Amino acid sequence: MNIVRAYKTELDLNNAQKTACAKHAGAARYAYNWGLARKLEAHQARKKVPTALDLHRELNALKKAELGWLYEVSKCAPQEALRDLDQAFMHFFRRVKEKRSAKQVNVGFPRFKSKKNGLGSFRLYGSIHVFEKAIQLPRLGMLRLKERGYLPTRGVHILSATVSEKGGHWFVSLHVEMESPDPEPLERPVAGVDLGINRMAQVSDETYYENPGALRSAISKLKRLQRIISRRQRASVNRAKAVKQLARAHARVANIRKNALHQATSQLTKTKSAIMLENLNVSGMLKNHHLAQAIADAGMYEFRRQLSYKGIWYGCEVWLADRFYPSTKRCSQCGQVKPMMALGKRDYHCEYCGLVLDRDLNAAINLEQLLNYPLIKLPQVLREDTPVESM
Ligand SMILES: [Zn+2]
Repeated sequence: MNIVRAYKTELDLNNAQKTACAKHAGAARYAYNWGLARKLEAHQARKKVPTALDLHRELNALKKAELGWLYEVSKCAPQEALRDLDQAFMHFFRRVKEKRSAKQVNVGFPRFKSKKNGLGSFRLYGSIHVFEKAIQLPRLGMLRLKERGYLPTRGVHILSATVSEKGGHWFVSLHVEMESPDPEPLERPVAGVDLGINRMAQVSDETYYENPGALRSAISKLKRLQRIISRRQRASVNRAKAVKQLARAHARVANIRKNALHQATSQLTKTKSAIMLENLNVSGMLKNHHLAQAIADAGMYEFRRQLSYKGIWYGCEVWLADRFYPSTKRCSQCGQVKPMMALGKRDYHCEYCGLVLDRDLNAAINLEQLLNYPLIKLPQVLREDTPVESM
């Protein structure tokens, strides 16, 4: 079985390399924004909206005439940005189609990219070579890596490399195709997993994964910086400094969380044959403004994403429970369902059978029990109101 996977790691750049990367990211952003403006213009003039290929040709002509600085960067950077723009439009139209039936108005039209959210990213193809301590990219040459030996040096087919900046750090994400041995069908147990704020994940076999301790202190630092920014004067030097610090703190929280999630999802998919998760209401979650909750929500989403692809690598089925399955309100011993389960209560108390159990563990066991029932597939039947052929 061939699988595609990405390896992301931090670059260790000197000043000249940082400048070169910033130029490439700038070219990608310029092409994206220019392309978006061209598409809008054509749309408003009721002309054919140009595709990535049309725009690339047009941009090449402009490069000779007035955009000479584009010669300083790899031609991949603007070209790939235009492809991303086409993708953004495709996703936009898909969402319009989906949401028109749901009568939702806000479907996220592709937006202009601003430097406010960092320098951005760019993608490169072509002669990419990986070494123990460095990666060689077209136009940029040999770039040192902070972590040696993480990127695969052999046995893979390199598809592309994406370089990005976040909070003053530069990263490379390498997309590779590799042969993966077909996972052996092992005798492994099944498990239910409950995701939460207090604990990152509670497993039905009574093991659990705590949120890393470093996360809490990183979050309180984040809160402190947000308060500082709100006190600083707009457009002041000190405010700009604090904003930069805040971006770093955000990146740190994201990194700590991601590492912890990777450990948990790898271990689970390697040791279980099937996992049942709660079905989360993702679009509802993103509206949450409470910081700790927002971070936990983002973690749950990422947890599910990692499980879904690692499940394929390691031969573990990942299931989602029905959205209305009462995993927190149900007693895992007798099956009674409470009408309400107060949020603050740490334990589940059952009035019928007397069970007292940690609420997250009770929820995880309920999820596991779903895997033991034969999963019912609805039989296909003719609709009762099959229309009679009109005469
Ligand atoms: Zn009970």
